Amino acid sequence: MPVTVMVAGGAPLGGEVRVPGDKSISHRALLIGALGEGTSVVRGLSDGDDVRRTREALAACGAEVHHDGDVVTVTGGRGVLHAPGAPLDCGNSGTGMRLLAGLVAGLDGETVLVGDASLSSRPMDRVAAPLTAMGATVTGRGARCRPPLTVRGGELRGVEWTPEVASAQVKSAVLLAGLAASGVTVVHEPVRTRTHTEELLALAGADIDVVDDGAGRTVRVRASSLRPFDLIVPGDPSQAAFWVVAGCVVPKSAIRVRGIYAGETRAGFLGVLARMGASLDVATRTEDGVAPSADVAARPALLTGTVVHASEIPSLDEVPALAVAAACAEGTTRFVGMGELRVKESDRLEGAARLVGAMGAAARVEGDDLVVEGVRRGGRLRHFRFDSGGDHRMAMAAAVAALAAGPGESRVDGFSGVATSYPAFLQHLRHLGGSARVQLVAIDGPAGSGKSTVSRELAARLGVARLDTGAMYRAVAWAALERGVDPSDAAAVAELARDAVIDPGPPDVVIDGVDVTGAIRGAGVNAAVSTVAANPAVRAVLVERQRAWAAAHGGGVVEGRDIGTVVFPTADLKVFLTAAPEERVRRRHDEAADGISRRDELDATRAASPLARADDAKLVDTTGRSVEDVIEEVLSWLR
Ligand code: C5P
Repeated sequence: MPVTVMVAGGAPLGGEVRVPGDKSISHRALLIGALGEGTSVVRGLSDGDDVRRTREALAACGAEVHHDGDVVTVTGGRGVLHAPGAPLDCGNSGTGMRLLAGLVAGLDGETVLVGDASLSSRPMDRVAAPLTAMGATVTGRGARCRPPLTVRGGELRGVEWTPEVASAQVKSAVLLAGLAASGVTVVHEPVRTRTHTEELLALAGADIDVVDDGAGRTVRVRASSLRPFDLIVPGDPSQAAFWVVAGCVVPKSAIRVRGIYAGETRAGFLGVLARMGASLDVATRTEDGVAPSADVAARPALLTGTVVHASEIPSLDEVPALAVAAACAEGTTRFVGMGELRVKESDRLEGAARLVGAMGAAARVEGDDLVVEGVRRGGRLRHFRFDSGGDHRMAMAAAVAALAAGPGESRVDGFSGVATSYPAFLQHLRHLGGSARVQLVAIDGPAGSGKSTVSRELAARLGVARLDTGAMYRAVAWAALERGVDPSDAAAVAELARDAVIDPGPPDVVIDGVDVTGAIRGAGVNAAVSTVAANPAVRAVLVERQRAWAAAHGGGVVEGRDIGTVVFPTADLKVFLTAAPEERVRRRHDEAADGISRRDELDATRAASPLARADDAKLVDTTGRSVEDVIEEVLSWLR
């Protein structure tokens, strides 16, 4: 997933998408499936990194988890699960960590739960407190019990618990622990939170009952032996919210999102949008899955400000998207009681205010409230630059803001976090007719100047693809030699290049079905390639393919000799690498020194697109410098 994405606004969006399986249901289906005595079958599981971590964590606890296309099977049971031998890495996922804490509290022995930097800064005290009251020993860092979290489970007893702050994660952790506790475990919720855990526990035959008396909900569970189940996971409403909002605010759009989970506790954002005047068409179906699912069609309408209470959107997951809708609306929208947004993957209260401001509306934080002043009639949104800090929801909200901001390209940094929940987000954005591209970096220079090493490392750091155009010229030279075509026979080599199907990799370079990865680095190709590359007709063919490659990848790191001058004269960054001749010869130890200098001479003096530094290319002499040092310098130009 790219770190930086450029999203263009100004074009209408249209079409249908199916968002990934609901993340909350996916985590719970795996956990409850692992507790079931037998094999559960789950379809449509979220394909994000967060859910993958939970899958791996359960496997480490002894469950058997198999993935076959869209179908995941989980085989577990009380007799199978055990405390894992090594720490469970929950990555970025707060849901994963809190729910796993509840499950492992019911296992004998000690489990350590770790996460990435963002998760490690999130408080776990609200889940530690009830589990401790049930008899587990839970320790973390500091007063708020931040990860790593150590849970020593064992003999648990039921408790009666009222979470201090409405939290489906805390409720779920307590209920999962309650399945292994003596007596009754009771959770009271003054404010209703998502009910997936209760629904799935009921599906798995747990001894559970729920009383909803208008003033709140009370859930009771007793130690239970669970049975396996079959489940289709409906689409994630919090991901759907991005496209529904886009349909409401990008002029002339018509977007339909299919198969969204439509249970009451998750559909609050639709109510908010409807109140703002959105044009929504919601078709609910109840036949598949454990919960109702809906197709939602959204079209632009004049939106007006409203008041949104935290209780309408218990998880607050849809607030970043709704803040974008509020920025596009007329008047003031007040999001009341949003303090919990501060301890999400990033401080989303600050982030949402910053995003709204960047796109040309105004926002302020008043205590725990977020107040958005939408653009006035005749006011204008503008394209912007926004750093999500790696928070997936802030990055996706920013992409929607960019689509809504009118003509021009906005830049969203920290985009790679989107892989945690919605790996196909950019694909879906393009499918709906939106335009998103990544940075295009052109790296040129003579042989041995460090192009390959630098471009490989740079592409990895930027999360983008890399194209080695030299490999394409080499593949054509190899094919000419292989077929007995004289490399200086311009017409014959040009015809060969036109007809050839070249896959430049990485990893493997293949021409007409033959893997030539190793062969194109041999002496014969070294001697012939510059002659082949001086052929204008060959260049015309390969340059066209290089441009097609960049269009298909939306950008990337491209290395060669004429990338900044001819192939991509409007690249976001051009770098021209050099190095002292002795060092270049040393780096190319398998090529003779006079061969290299002959190749450089031919490349630099040919008539067609000679090796040259573009006027606006940054010159980097790599002599005696470490790769890391060079990469840092190049990255600084992209920031
Ligand atoms: O990058 P590499 O050294 O593998 O490139 C092999 C040859 O391909 C170069 O010496 C040059 O003749 C040719 N080339 C080119 N234009 C490019 C990339 C490579 O002419 N963009």
